[in-house]
Amino acid sequence: MNKSIFKRVVLKFSGEVLAGDKEFGISADVVKSIASEISDAKASGVEIGLVIGGGNIFRGLNAEDSNIDRATGDQMGMLATIINSLAMQDALENVNVETRVLTAIRMDEIAEPYIRRRAVRHLEKGRLTLFSAGTGSPYFTTDTAAALRAIEIGADILIKGTKVDGIFDKDPEKDNDAKLIKHLTYMEVLEKNLRVMDSTAISLCMENNLPITVYNMKKPGNLKRLLTGEKIGTTVSGEKNA
Ligand code: UDP
Repeated sequence: MNKSIFKRVVLKFSGEVLAGDKEFGISADVVKSIASEISDAKASGVEIGLVIGGGNIFRGLNAEDSNIDRATGDQMGMLATIINSLAMQDALENVNVETRVLTAIRMDEIAEPYIRRRAVRHLEKGRLTLFSAGTGSPYFTTDTAAALRAIEIGADILIKGTKVDGIFDKDPEKDNDAKLIKHLTYMEVLEKNLRVMDSTAISLCMENNLPITVYNMKKPGNLKRLLTGEKIGTTVSGEKNA
C-alpha cells in the first residue's frame, strides 16, 4: 500500500455532489461510494478532516426568493451541512472508518461542539473528523469554513472534490475545447475570477500559504492517487510554477 505524502488534509465537497443525478437531497448510492473512496484513501495513513456543503438541501442565497431573511436562510444552510455530515458519518462507519462529527453550532445531542484542540486530538487518533455547520456564522460559505478549519488544524493541503477534472480555462460542461489548467497562483484565481472557491476562501488560503488541489471525485481511486503523490487536477498555490 502506497503511503500518503501528506500527514493531514482537509477534503471539501459541495452538498450537490451528494444529490447525485437528483436536483436536491441525498443519494444513498453516492454517499456509499464516496465513503468507500475515502476509506481506501485513508488507508494510506493520512489524517482526514471533511467539510461537506449544504447546497443540496438549502442555500442562504435562495432564501430571499422565499421571503426568508438572508441570515436566517444561512442558518438553515448551515443546518443542512449537519444533515449531510450525519449521512456521511453513517456511511463511513459502515465501512469501518471511525469518525466524529463536530459542529460549529452547538447541538449536543447529535454532535460534539467544534473545539480546535479536540479536533486535532481526534485526528491524531486516526478518527476522520467531519467539520459541520460551516463557520457557524452567516454570510460565509463552506469553502471558507474548509479553508479556515484546514488552517486551524495545520493541514498540509485543502483538497476540493468536484465533478470535473480541475480548473479549466472555460466551463468544461459547456465548451468541448476547454483546457485543464494544472497550476495557478492564488492571485490568478482571484484576478481571473475563476469560480472554483469564493474569494474569501482563496484569500484565507493565500494569506496562510495553504495549497489547494481541485480534483475529480467522480473517478474511482482519484483521491488515493492524489494523496499518494500522483499529480492530478489543478493545484493553486503561491508559487508561479509549482
Ligand atoms: N453557510 C453559512 N455560513 C458558513 C457556511 C455555510 O451561512 O460558514 C450557509 C450558506 O447559506 C450556504 C449554505 O450554508 O449557502 C450551504 O453551504 P454552501 O453554499 O457552501 O454549500 P455547497 O455549495 O458547498 O453545497
